[in-house]
Amino acid sequence: MAATTTENILKETMQRYEEDASDDKSFEELGVDARLIRALLKKGIDKPTPIQRVAIPLILEGKDVVARAKTGSGKTFAYLLPMLQKLFANVDRKKQAPNAFVLVPTRELCQQVYIEVVSLIELCRVQLKVAQLNSNMQASDLRAALTGPPDILISTPACLAKCLFDGVLQPASINATLETLILDEADLLLSYGYENDIKSFTPHVPRSCQCLLMSATSSTDVDKLKKLILHNPFILTLPEVGNNKDDVIPKNVQQFWISCPANDKLLYTLAVLKLELVQKKVLIFTNDIDMSFRLKLFLEKFGIKSAVLNAELPQNSRLHILEEFNAGLFDYLIATDVSQSKEKDEAPKEGKGSRKSRKHKLKLDSEFGVVRGIDFKNVFTVINFDMPRSVAGYVHRIGRTGRAYSSGASISLVSTDEMETLEEVKAFVGDDENKGSNTIVEFPFLTKNAVESLRYRAEVIYHFLFSFTLEEKTCKQP
Ligand code: AMP
Repeated sequence: MAATTTENILKETMQRYEEDASDDKSFEELGVDARLIRALLKKGIDKPTPIQRVAIPLILEGKDVVARAKTGSGKTFAYLLPMLQKLFANVDRKKQAPNAFVLVPTRELCQQVYIEVVSLIELCRVQLKVAQLNSNMQASDLRAALTGPPDILISTPACLAKCLFDGVLQPASINATLETLILDEADLLLSYGYENDIKSFTPHVPRSCQCLLMSATSSTDVDKLKKLILHNPFILTLPEVGNNKDDVIPKNVQQFWISCPANDKLLYTLAVLKLELVQKKVLIFTNDIDMSFRLKLFLEKFGIKSAVLNAELPQNSRLHILEEFNAGLFDYLIATDVSQSKEKDEAPKEGKGSRKSRKHKLKLDSEFGVVRGIDFKNVFTVINFDMPRSVAGYVHRIGRTGRAYSSGASISLVSTDEMETLEEVKAFVGDDENKGSNTIVEFPFLTKNAVESLRYRAEVIYHFLFSFTLEEKTCKQP
């Protein structure tokens, strides 16, 4: 009886909110605080995205929310605005620990969320303190960061677990103070090996704490987290993202592919960029770190300035590169998606110890991820220099463009070996131009003649840089 009633209430509530999502409601009508609305306007944001329209009223009502929100949908503000509004109501209260935790899988995301929160707080002129933790911090740094204590803590689960382990945060204080717990990119948290870290603090989360789970996909991992974290019986899974392709790849992203021999990928990338066949800014994905450096050096010789971003770079450099790219200081960023590389497969399975050993073995930062969550600002074109190895990988990469209300394009360079993945992508998104906008089609603007006109110079430069020809290069590749 009780279950049926709850189900009915849920159904009705869902219907109500689905109707609301299709309305053109303003932030004001959603109940957002006037200070936050003014802050958003200063950022050029004047109307809510669909996920914001659905999630904000629910969160403001104090409900636990599981939001399946695709990357670039505006999900960060969907949880930050109501979280801040809740804190605005009680700025001066005494507390023993932060009132809100935002937990994310990577340090880049920590930094990104931190920047967004601090900027909103500054624009609203409200006295709230935010701390950001990272796993390089010693116990004394963690203690200093948590002195006060701050109102909002942004961290990876591992750093939070470290704080508890080192006695920097007291379980009883968390239990007495925590009001909002947000897990962003929740579907990644377990696959990044944070399960034990999460389990170390969940017993201290008070039952009254509002829990929000933001996730691009629904998976068994998300179900596991729901069971682990959510206390409140009203768990609303928002209908923003379905399983169908129209929901996961924005309609405003045009998808193209180019058939390209594996040993000609540098040449084809050069042709696409040099002939200005794509709109800037451009994010190029490789599966291999060495190749990303080669591509950078190669493009540089043709006057195309780019930067590389990968898990081998020190954290400070990565943050700096991201900031500069987002600020528009350069137009081409070559990111290595290690989740798609062979190195990843060779790495041991997740878990605290294994993360450490992988880091040692590959010198990669396990708290780094380029494909999910990071907000690369104003990327118009995504180029898959290497195809991702799965449709899911493809979808996440394409999600780096066409964010919020902007449009974008993607070009995948596909070698014979990668045709199978392309077929899978085609089966998922479709390849018939007449069927609608959300399909992948052959790139019509690059002719063979145009490519060949660049080949000689490309070969000379490549030989000069790397001392062997493009053909030899393929032989040397693993
Ligand atoms: P997110 O999905 O949270 O990573 O947000 C992606 C991008 O959308 C960020 O650059 C936000 O600044 C931007 N954004 C968030 N909300 C809106 C909105 N309502 N209108 C336009 N852009 C937005």
